[in-house]
Amino acid sequence: MKLINVYIEHLTLQLNQLFTYACDEPVQKGCRVKVDFAHRECIGFVQETDVKSDLKNIKPVLEVIDKEPLLNEELLDLAQYISKRYVCSVISAYKTMLPPALRPSSTYKKIIYEDHVYLSSSTLPLTSKQANVYEEIKDKLPMKASEFRKLTKSLAKPLIEKGYVKLRKLPKSNDVLPSYIEDSIHELTLEQKNAIEEIENSNDSCFLLHGVTGSGKTEVFLHLAQTVLKQNKQVLFLVPEIGLTPMMIERVMARFQRKVAIYHSQLNDQEKYEQYCLVKDKKVDIVIGTRSAAFMPFDDLGLILMDEEHDTSYKQDSMPRYHTRDIALWRAKYHGCKVVLSSATPSLESYSRAYKNVYHLVSLTKRIYDQMPEIHLVDMKEERNQFGLSQRLIDAIQKTLDKNDQVILLLNRRGYLPVVRCSNCNEVMMCPDCGIALTYHKSNDSLMCHCCGNVYRFDHTCPKCHSHHFFQVGMGTERLEENIQMLFPNANIVRMDADSTKRKNAHAKLLKEFEQSGDILLGTQMVAKGLDFERVTLVGILQADNALIHSDYRSCEIAYQMLEQASGRSGRGVKKGDVYIQTYDPGHYVMQSVLKHDYLGFFRKEMSYRHLGVYPPYVFLCCIIYSHESLEKAMDVALLGKQFLSQFKVLGPLEINMRQRQKRVRLIVKSKDETQLNQTIWKLVEYHRSLKTNVKQDINMYPLILEE
Ligand code: ADP
Ligand code: ZN
Ligand code: ZN
Repeated sequence: MKLINVYIEHLTLQLNQLFTYACDEPVQKGCRVKVDFAHRECIGFVQETDVKSDLKNIKPVLEVIDKEPLLNEELLDLAQYISKRYVCSVISAYKTMLPPALRPSSTYKKIIYEDHVYLSSSTLPLTSKQANVYEEIKDKLPMKASEFRKLTKSLAKPLIEKGYVKLRKLPKSNDVLPSYIEDSIHELTLEQKNAIEEIENSNDSCFLLHGVTGSGKTEVFLHLAQTVLKQNKQVLFLVPEIGLTPMMIERVMARFQRKVAIYHSQLNDQEKYEQYCLVKDKKVDIVIGTRSAAFMPFDDLGLILMDEEHDTSYKQDSMPRYHTRDIALWRAKYHGCKVVLSSATPSLESYSRAYKNVYHLVSLTKRIYDQMPEIHLVDMKEERNQFGLSQRLIDAIQKTLDKNDQVILLLNRRGYLPVVRCSNCNEVMMCPDCGIALTYHKSNDSLMCHCCGNVYRFDHTCPKCHSHHFFQVGMGTERLEENIQMLFPNANIVRMDADSTKRKNAHAKLLKEFEQSGDILLGTQMVAKGLDFERVTLVGILQADNALIHSDYRSCEIAYQMLEQASGRSGRGVKKGDVYIQTYDPGHYVMQSVLKHDYLGFFRKEMSYRHLGVYPPYVFLCCIIYSHESLEKAMDVALLGKQFLSQFKVLGPLEINMRQRQKRVRLIVKSKDETQLNQTIWKLVEYHRSLKTNVKQDINMYPLILEE
């Protein structure tokens, strides 16, 4: 009998404690075993083998689940790093790294690739028969190759061979085909060329590619990837949100014409498993995905590209609360490869690191067609508000539609009415679990809590005074859509928000619909990010101040990023673009920086405020939340925590919104010394355990957003 040490799943209190079991089969580190723990059958993760122990009564392993380790050496090490840095269990890191279903079940859906035929151009002569068929079929492309062959019969082959059509492999599905799969290889601009050379010829490992919106950063990515793929190494493309994957997938597939692995949260468990195996079995060398894609089992990674590096969705907001950038940097170091972070609006953390030469700064200062969109700040104090829009914006939309150009409207609030208030007694409909106002959604005539996601039936009766009348104040995307349709009855409107994109592939479908026949795309911050449509020449931003009124230390940074990114969707092609920003505070430095596309000006100003307020990047933060049914109890334990952390500056305890009927109290810890902070928080975990309290302590290291 050999002895092994395992971590036990579900064991959250004893952070990273190892337990010894006996095993008569050979078993490796990184395999799962079934064990008896406190008279319960549990899953254990083998961490050490050939262990020596003087313990008596060591229990045997019940079953060895895996023959092969689920995670390779690198990922096992990475889990240790995550645990240490984010003060969480190694098991929680393992869980995040692995596709949820490592048990292939019968609903297993294989991703099969099939050929599709796309239009191409050629100057080779055609016979008259071939030319006739070509003319006939031209407008119907793209289509599946099988269909194409049926329609063209013996002429399929010559048309392909002479280059009039091209074959592309795409995942077999009933879904929409990517629309502009035709690759456009451009001659690089001088700035792009220099950027690529600078990155490729440097010995540095981490680069910040700061390029204004539409400066061709993606093109730089594709060139860098090309070089690495030629060396038979793997490339990872990270995007912050699912909504941005369809475009990236199209551009990457069009360029490299090969299978890629795709990884994001809308895949079901089986599809995730399938994609995971594609990488593990070395069937692909390109991975595109959101933050969880950073954990793919690469074995020879040559380059990590992180698009829109400032985006807060790169930080996971549940255990383990890692930041994808840290994972990327760690893995790049392990593989000895480069990381390129890119953004038009870098996070203050990254830009200040670039400033200090920790990251190598590479800049693209000009748009491809060299004209930045013109910003118009619309002062809503001086405008009549019609259906949420100013006359200036209405006129601009009309003008754009008349030219047959496209419009994007951003309103960062979904639903119909953000607050439902009784017009008789003023009662506001609230979420009983969170204590915040509910949003009315007209599509399903219900009230929804945007904090916990609970949905409540709404019988249009005030629970307090039984009145049936409610104020119609405020506006979400649902109501905006209605208003816009009223103002522009002939316009084809596409709405994109969390409600309209719930279903799988909804993003890709909506974007395709907008590209082909849409006039106006309206939605939440989803429409602000990454989209590249050359016919969009007008962007309108409604209620731009919403983002500024939050009290979070990062509110202004996030507001600036959203406004500048949204503006960046306008006029990306040859045509010049305009942007209308509706605000009550046009003099605010965020608005003024966007007006002049002045990132550096914004950076300097914001840094001076962070310095004054003692916030990142000047200090490291840790946010600790204590939760319990009883506010007093939570408060008491929080005060003990504060005492324990007395060497640091600690804000709080402050009561914040409850969650699932639990009262919550928050501490914010600030420290200039990252190591000291980390070590002390680990000690706090031990201390909290020693209190044997049922108040829950939840730790968020280096939070980007402090909960309100
Ligand atoms: P960014 O990622 O910086 O916002 P993109 O890479 O999306 O910019 O480029 C913006 C647009 O310009 C895209 O449609 C892209 O195809 C096009 N483009 C990129 N590089 C060039 C180039 N060298 N010449 C012409 N067009 C280009
Ligand atoms: Zn009432
Ligand atoms: Zn709620």
